[in-house]
Amino acid sequence: MQKKTFWLIALLALALAAVIAYMAPLSQNEISRKVAEIAPVTDAWRAALPRDPTAATAAYMARLPAAATARSDAYFEGGYWLQLIALVVGLAASCVLLNSRILAGLRDKLEQRSGKRWLNNAALIAAFTVLSSVLMFPLDVYQRYYREHLYGLANQSFEPWLKEFLLSFSVSIVIGTIFLSLIYVVLRRLVKTWWIWGAVMSVVFLTIMMLIGPTYIDPLFNHYTPLTDEKVKQPILAMARANGVPADNVYQFDASKQTNRISANVSGIFGTAAVRLNDNLLKRTSQPEIEAVMGHELGHYVLNHVYHFLLSFGVLLVLGFAFVKTGYGWALQRWGQQWGIRDQADPVGLPLLVALFSLYLFVMTPVFNTVIRSSEVEADAFGINTSQQADGMAEAHLKLTEYRKANPGELEEFVFYDHPAPKKRIFMAMRWKAEHWKTP
Ligand SMILES: [Zn+2]
Repeated sequence: MQKKTFWLIALLALALAAVIAYMAPLSQNEISRKVAEIAPVTDAWRAALPRDPTAATAAYMARLPAAATARSDAYFEGGYWLQLIALVVGLAASCVLLNSRILAGLRDKLEQRSGKRWLNNAALIAAFTVLSSVLMFPLDVYQRYYREHLYGLANQSFEPWLKEFLLSFSVSIVIGTIFLSLIYVVLRRLVKTWWIWGAVMSVVFLTIMMLIGPTYIDPLFNHYTPLTDEKVKQPILAMARANGVPADNVYQFDASKQTNRISANVSGIFGTAAVRLNDNLLKRTSQPEIEAVMGHELGHYVLNHVYHFLLSFGVLLVLGFAFVKTGYGWALQRWGQQWGIRDQADPVGLPLLVALFSLYLFVMTPVFNTVIRSSEVEADAFGINTSQQADGMAEAHLKLTEYRKANPGELEEFVFYDHPAPKKRIFMAMRWKAEHWKTP
């Protein structure tokens, strides 16, 4: 493949992205929201709920309009295919980059100018990030802009969306280049054991990102302010204190400029904690729902899920790097020369490394999802025990069906769900309620 062909493909990708962005149904936002609206209920409705958990769950589920279920099923199931499409497009982008030898050409030019290996490597890594992002851009615009608008989940017009996309791209190019440059030092110096050190470095890197993310990266995209409504804040802080979470304030952020989704998090590592909730949660849910959601988020913190993740992902990353090492060695022998890759420590081979890694992540999707989903089940249990808001929890999970299919099959849940199915979570809340029923 000629370099000219590469630039032609890149240009076509940008043109396609522009067409997709232009087609985004901004005005449909309102229409699809209305179709999916779940009618609110009164305290009397809740009081009249059957005591039997199955029947109470059915009463909650019956409030979902058929159109809403159809819409969220379509959105979520489409997401399954998107995972496959993203893999295929990513592999195709790697093929184009390797076969056009565009990075090999850049490397030769860089070497003529500078003898500094680390500088050349960093430039090649940054160039790879830019070029592959251009090739993947139509899919990004479709998935993260067009589709979110199609389902009435997004609020941003294209210009601010693009600005944020470029900002997040700039952040990832800086962080990614630093991280991958270090990986290439290991690839060169520790020829045989680099895959183990790669996994270790990835875990250290994830830890650093968890430390700096909430303070330095999140505020680039949203405005964080202390929650002023004491009626909302105090019950959250009371739950935090009751469970030994070292937080003395609750923050809100303006997610509604990007999305309609309700969300919150309690982040922090090594004894720090930040309790944060988004303005959609404040605007779209009641106090019992907020308490149930925040109880869940506090659960992640109290149950040390961050450390569980680092440990489990550490093991999965060692396996991943082992797979990548084997595949990389095999592919280099076969096609290394054709693609202009000199040895394993040559960043010209980066598209190959990324392709192999994305293949591993794709195959392991059910494993990663199950690791996360198990923690979510624990956080749900913690959330309901600490907030004691069974109906609040059920109501919040009913709202989450906006973007998560409510009632999947068992295998479907195992493969695709990183959270339990909404119907199961509502049932869990109703069972808790039945078993903690207090007669006044
Ligand atoms: Zn969670």
